[in-house]
Parts: sequence; C-alpha cells; structure tokens
Amino acid sequence: MNILTNAEKRTYGAIVIGSGMAGGWAAKEFCEKGIKTLVLERGRKVTHNEDYPTTLLNPWEFPHRGRLTNEEIAENPIISKCYAFREDAKHFFVKDKEQPYVQDKPFDWIRGYQVGGKSLLWARQTQRWSQLDFDGPERDGFAVAWPISYKDIDPWYSHVEKFAGISGNKDGLDSLPDGDFLPPMELTCVEKHFQQEIKKLYQDRHVIIGRCAHLTQPQDIHFQQGRAQCLGRNLCQRGCPYGGYFSANSSTLPWAAKTGNMTLRPDSIVHSIIYDEKKAKAIGVRVIDAHTKEMVEYYAKVIFVTAAAMNTNAILLNSTSNRFPNGLGNDSGILGKYVAFHNYRASISAEYDGYLDFKSEGGRPNSGYIPRFRNLHKQETNFLRGYAAGMNAGRSSSTNREGLGESLKNSLLNPKYTNWYAGSHMMGETIPKESNQIKLDPSKKDENGLPIIHFDVSYDDNDEKMIKDFFEQFTEMYSKAGFTNIKTRDSHQAPGLDIHEMGGARMGKDPKTSILNKWNQMHMVKNVFVTDGASMTSTSTQNPSLTYMALTARAVDYAVKEMKKRNI
Ligand SMILES: Cc1cc2nc3c(=O)[nH]c(=O)nc-3n(C[C@H](O)[C@H](O)[C@H](O)COP(=O)(O)OP(=O)(O)OC[C@H]3O[C@@H](n4cnc5c(N)ncnc54)[C@H](O)[C@@H]3O)c2cc1C
Ligand code: SF4
Repeated sequence: MNILTNAEKRTYGAIVIGSGMAGGWAAKEFCEKGIKTLVLERGRKVTHNEDYPTTLLNPWEFPHRGRLTNEEIAENPIISKCYAFREDAKHFFVKDKEQPYVQDKPFDWIRGYQVGGKSLLWARQTQRWSQLDFDGPERDGFAVAWPISYKDIDPWYSHVEKFAGISGNKDGLDSLPDGDFLPPMELTCVEKHFQQEIKKLYQDRHVIIGRCAHLTQPQDIHFQQGRAQCLGRNLCQRGCPYGGYFSANSSTLPWAAKTGNMTLRPDSIVHSIIYDEKKAKAIGVRVIDAHTKEMVEYYAKVIFVTAAAMNTNAILLNSTSNRFPNGLGNDSGILGKYVAFHNYRASISAEYDGYLDFKSEGGRPNSGYIPRFRNLHKQETNFLRGYAAGMNAGRSSSTNREGLGESLKNSLLNPKYTNWYAGSHMMGETIPKESNQIKLDPSKKDENGLPIIHFDVSYDDNDEKMIKDFFEQFTEMYSKAGFTNIKTRDSHQAPGLDIHEMGGARMGKDPKTSILNKWNQMHMVKNVFVTDGASMTSTSTQNPSLTYMALTARAVDYAVKEMKKRNI
C-alpha cells in the first residue's frame, strides 16, 4: 500500500487563493480539466441556499425593517456607507473592526470574507471591454500598454457569459461589444423616452438596458447547475434561492465540487507564498487557521492568487524571500503601486412630468446604462478618458394607512404616485499613478499575524474635471430631453466605495514596468498567476468582474497547457 506522507497529503495540482468571483472561476476551470485543486478561503463556509438566512424573510420579520441600528452605524463608519450593507445582507460584509487597515489617505475598503466572496453581494452589471479600452494607456500616454487586445479576450468573454448567464440586448456599439446574451430586460417608459430623445439629439450617445448576470431565460447549462429563472424579486444581496443571478456559490464552486477534484478549505487565511530558490519557483503557501491560528503549509505545481485586488497585493508583498526581499516577483519595485479605481462620486436627479398613466412596479434587478461617449475615438476634452453612467426612472407610491375597514381597504388599493423621477450616476475611469499605492506596515500586525495594510490612494485633477463635465453634459441631456427639477450631487466620497479597486500587480509587456505578462503570469515566477483586479493595467469605465472572470478562465487554460508541457 502506498502511504502518503503528511506533506504529500497537503500537495495538489493547483492552489487557488480566494473563493470569490475570480477564484470560483479558477476552481471550476482547473477541476474540469482534471487538476486536483485546493481552494483556500479566509472566510467562513457559505453554501448556496443553506446559508442565506434572510432570503425568504418578509419585511415585517426583520427586527429593524431592513435598516441598520444606530449602534451598527456608529461601529461601522466605513462599511455603513455602502448601500448594500443593510439588515438583510450585513452578515456577508467584513465589519470595520474585523480587519483594520491604515488610511494614510481616506479609503473606504468594502470586503466580503466568506466562501463566494463579494460574488454574493455584487450588483451583477456585466459589460465587456472594447478595443478602445485596451488601447487607452498607449493612446493617452499613461500607465503602460496592455499586453492583450480585445480579440485575445473575446472568446473568453463568451465562455464566461454562456456559463454564467448574462442578459442583454445586442446594441451594436463599438464602445461596448455585444456578448452571448440571454434575452434583455426592459427599460421603463420614461427610460425609453430618454433613450429616444438622446438618439435624436446626439449621434454618439446611447441609452441601453444594462447587461447583467441574471437568468432571464435559463439554458440547459444553467439547469445543470441547479439554477432557475430569475423571478425579479430584486432581493439578490440576500443570496438567491433560485440561483437566478450568478455567484460563485450558486454556480462555479458547486460545479467544481461535482468533478470530485476540488478541496475547499474555508477559515484558511493565506499568509504568504513559499518561494524555493533552488527550484526557482513557488512551491506552495503558508496558511493560518482562522480558529486555532496554527500555520500549515500546502503545496502545488501552480498557484492562482485571486484574493480580491488589495488582499492579493498584500499576500504578494508579504511573500518575501532572499530572492524577492520586496515581495514575490517584485524586481521592478512596482508591486502595490499604480492602484486605480472607479470614480463614483457624481450623480444627477431629475423629474419628468408625463407618462402619468404608467407606473413602475415589480423588482427589475437591473437599470439603464449609458456607455462612455467622451474622448472615445480622439481626445476632445481637458481631461483624459471618460465615464459611463447608470440610468433609472421610476415612480414611488405611498398609501394612507390610517383608518379601519372599508376606508383603509380603499386607501391601500389606491396608492398615490409621485411624478416620474430619473437619475444617473457617473462611473469614471481613473488614471493609475505610481503614488496611488498600498504598503504593508513594517511592524504592526493584525490578530492573525498579517501585516496591517496602508492605503495611500486619492483622486486627482483629472477626476475633478471629469465630474464637472459629467454634470454639464448630463444636465444638458436631461434638460434637452424634457426633464425638470435637475439636481447634481458630488458625494465627495473617498475612493473605495465604488468597490472596483484595481491594479498593484499590473499586466504589461516589460518585466521592468509590470508584474504580470499577457497570460496573467508573473514575469519572475512562472507558476504564479494573478487574475483578479490586481492584474488590471487600467480601469476603463465598465464594471470589472466580467473581465476578471474571462482573464481567469483564459489564464487557467494557458497554465494547464504549460503544466502538460512541463514548463511550469
Ligand atoms: C455592493 C457591491 C456591488 C457590486 N456591483 C458590481 C457590479 O455590478 N458589477 C461588477 O462587475 N462588480 C461589482 N462589484 C464588485 C465585485 O463584487 C468584485 O469586482 C468581485 O467580487 C471581485 O472578485 P474577486 O474574486 O477579485 O474578489 P472577491 O469576490 O471579493 O473574492 C475574494 C475572496 O478572497 C478571500 N481572501 C482574501 N484574502 C485572503 C487570504 N489572505 N487568504 C484566503 N482567502 C482570502 C476573500 O475572503 C474572498 O472570499 C460589486 C461589489 C459590491 C460589494
Ligand atoms: S431578482 Fe432574480 S436573482 Fe435576484 S433574488 Fe430575485 S429571483 Fe433571485
């Protein structure tokens, strides 16, 4: 009988760090390709459906009617700014005290530490990048050139879209390529009015229905995942009992588990990656047990780091050795630098006096979307790049709940409706800069023995100019389309609240100015791959998760081919 040693028992084909949006895809792809895969997750186990405690609760069953208490807000000044941190979903967020960090400059860091990560919490907007986005840094002279183009990732977008299920309309726009879509959701009548007016007024601006990860018409591949049609409950952040939206918990992780090749270890905090100088490669990871605080090592041929952008940077910076004293693969010294994010500070609201025979009811878990139109084909403003925007129009209703019997019944059956309100929020591209960076504290450690992370990240003049332009352009668009009572708002929120932090271990062509090559593979450590937001060379305007998922699937495909050739 072949008896395995303890180290052999802890040896796998691949290790995936983090089980969220990107990690779930890495696990699925490796396991489908027959690789024994260990998925290490610092948070607790959350099993689809079994661990969604609020999913079927009625509004009156929440002790605080869905709101946070004053104590919770006082204890969580950062996380309580996030719109989704509320009574029905708060158990999926990291509370402010749980993993403290230092804000050298204000940064609202929103995290979900559990199996599934933030894939349980996301708003499910899923737009592809276009070639115009990949051309950005080179054309406009910032960061470094992307080492990939749209055609490299196009088939992997399709691969992800078909499995995850993305609803959308084929709009035929060069700024926002169409994907392999399930049927689109519908715009409300006032959103359609805005769409038509904008089409008449501007050749280059478009209002479309958002592309989102919801099963509007599930296909066989979705039924095989045990998922069913989205019923428009719009209570997604509680976890969807039908698997109506895509999350790692409902989709990629159970799929990986079904192959028999996945070992999922929750409560396993990756401390660092072990580099073997003689072998000139990474051989495994050091893991702290979240309960016992014991350190255990696990080994594998290939390691995927998908712990969400900032934690991925922290793990790499903490992976020091004689060969890499400043962090794994960090000969260039840029690890942790060129952090960027999306600028979500600006919004606009307006009213429309009309369409009073129509109302908006039901729970469409989606909104309208206005793709970037500024500086698209050439530089035309006093700031670089541009912004996309969301667009929503609806009506609120209220009922008089006083009285009893017939009169109460009549009031309940005849709610009063407001005028149509409409609004847009800006989703701006920010320019990655060396000075926007995260660092590890040289001496202070958290309760798990991990160095405390410092954030030194801020907006710049380009962001301020972009906000001004958004206000001018959208005020003009709404007023020309017949809207009134137009109000603009700059929330002045800190970076981070957009929840799209990126960079720090960017992709690039030159090892002197980037950490990863065109396969998301470390230039300096060929068996380590980074495929989450940390790998992003620039940010564009689109919600980023679809791109992380596509990059991950593409990188696993490459890694497995390289493993078979014994190159890694
Ligand atoms: C309210 C909200 C709305 C959003 N809306 C959208 C949207 O509409 N569209 C979009 O594209 N994106 C959206 N996002 C962002 C999206 O959730 C993230 O882009 C995505 O989840 C990132 O994937 P990830 O795998 O990198 O990180 P995550 O999904 O966060 O997964 C990372 C995992 O790694 C684990 N981990 C971290 N450190 C360690 C460690 N040391 N050891 C082991 N495990 C570790 C974490 O616990 C976590 O489970 C939204 C996010 C939120 C919170
Ligand atoms: S809107 Fe769809 S995905 Fe969201 S909770 Fe409802 S059924 Fe589930």
